[in-house]
Amino acid sequence: MRKIEHLGLAVLNIDQAIKTFEDLLDTPCYKLEEVESEYVKTAFFQVGESKIELLQATDENSAIAKYIAKKGQGIHHIAFDVANIEEEIARLQAKGFQLIHQTPKDGADNKLIAFLHPKSTEGMLIELCQEK
Ligand code: ZN
Repeated sequence: MRKIEHLGLAVLNIDQAIKTFEDLLDTPCYKLEEVESEYVKTAFFQVGESKIELLQATDENSAIAKYIAKKGQGIHHIAFDVANIEEEIARLQAKGFQLIHQTPKDGADNKLIAFLHPKSTEGMLIELCQEK
């Protein structure tokens, strides 16, 4: 894995959170994107070579809605940039890690993504990202 691509932050109100993070980071949100398959709205900020991804649920069945109901707003996942996501999935499976996605899927911000199951990563939700 090459770097932390982004941190995914679960928020209740993305419009309010965008304003907060624009002021905090002193940089504008560069992309707003709804991912209908995941029932989320996302907003991205560039911070040096990494990014911040804000996530707001658009449906009560969204993983983000469930996360916030359980834990409140906070850091939802850590995403690592990988050169070849299929090779990385195979490498991790060979090591015994459990993947939520066995094959890469389309994610926000022009990425192929796959999530690891927190059961096999000390309770942390980890995302793999490959630039398309
Ligand atoms: Zn993410």
